[in-house]
Amino acid sequence: MSRTASSAAENHVLAAIGSGRARSRREISQVLGLSASTVSQHVQSLLTQGLVEEGDARDSTGGRRAKELRLAGDTELIGVIDLGGAHARLGVVPRGGDLVRTAEIAITLDDGPRPVLEHCVSELERLAEGAPIAGVGIALPGPVDVASRGVVSPSRMPGWGGVDIGQILSDIAAVPAVVENDANAMALGEHFAHSPHPSGSVTLKAGTAIGSGIVVDGQVYRGAAGAAGDITHTRVASARDRQCTCGNRGCLETVASGAALVRLLQEEGVDVSSTAEVIALVRDAHPRATALTRAAGHHLGEVLCAVVNFFNPSAIHLGGALSSLEPFVSALRSEVYEGSHPLMTRDLTIAPAALGADASLVGVSRQVNEHLTGLLRG
Ligand SMILES: [Zn+2]
Repeated sequence: MSRTASSAAENHVLAAIGSGRARSRREISQVLGLSASTVSQHVQSLLTQGLVEEGDARDSTGGRRAKELRLAGDTELIGVIDLGGAHARLGVVPRGGDLVRTAEIAITLDDGPRPVLEHCVSELERLAEGAPIAGVGIALPGPVDVASRGVVSPSRMPGWGGVDIGQILSDIAAVPAVVENDANAMALGEHFAHSPHPSGSVTLKAGTAIGSGIVVDGQVYRGAAGAAGDITHTRVASARDRQCTCGNRGCLETVASGAALVRLLQEEGVDVSSTAEVIALVRDAHPRATALTRAAGHHLGEVLCAVVNFFNPSAIHLGGALSSLEPFVSALRSEVYEGSHPLMTRDLTIAPAALGADASLVGVSRQVNEHLTGLLRG
């Protein structure tokens, strides 16, 4: 690349802006651990050299407004895909910027990777409106092996196991591709959406299933097998010997997920068939749906106490459809605050997820940015 910066520190500032890790002087200061005056000096130098541009003021989540910094003359976009069971959410985002356009398309996972990804890429090209796409990223609903770029146990994605999804996506789009698990992508998006950025965060996705992602020092923590954060299969006493989808018995998932609530209500003769219907009942103050949802919040909170005591995160972000229900959230919060060591909860924030349906898109776009910046810097 032709960009040359005058010092190593300036290069780090440039990389932080180019990768999207930091988009304001304050964020650069946080991410790189530099003083405000040093950052200001480097940014001024990069602006003078024409390597960086300063954009319009934008709202940060704290309500404060900061000037947005981005690479100069960068018209390239990143295309991102959040693959669900029956739909894919798609978006395009400038390098180091915010999502500019999103869309949702119906897909059939059973068609297999290539037809589904071809459909997604053609939709991304439509969203790009003629602008070049520099890289693509995809968030998948299952554990992902980042090295082989495939799904590990594709129980929900038959026909998708054992293939390099990143390679197929890269072949179709003719640009580099990044593959990530959706809970990890969501966690990364949420981590940077809250101000100030937490040192360590856990983001929960409590919907039909329960997932979570862990971010430490700005990076996704994956664990040895890439399955870190999969708290849904933690055994809880109240689940007794209920059969879980993983083959084990007594998992949290069997009493605290949306799927579990559907089944528990059906066992009591209530006519429900989906998590959305359970949510509607709770909003309608249906006594049994409300009681079971509150119990689900307690069960999840109980497992989170162990997470909080072990990991001492500074933030827990609550996402997924169940997190929109007051009885669920208040039960979870009280369980965590009562059941964790006071030192662990002293500086702990439990906050609603900020990005809604876009969290995974934002998170995976950060990873594509980092990947592309890494390629440029060799
Ligand atoms: Zn299980």
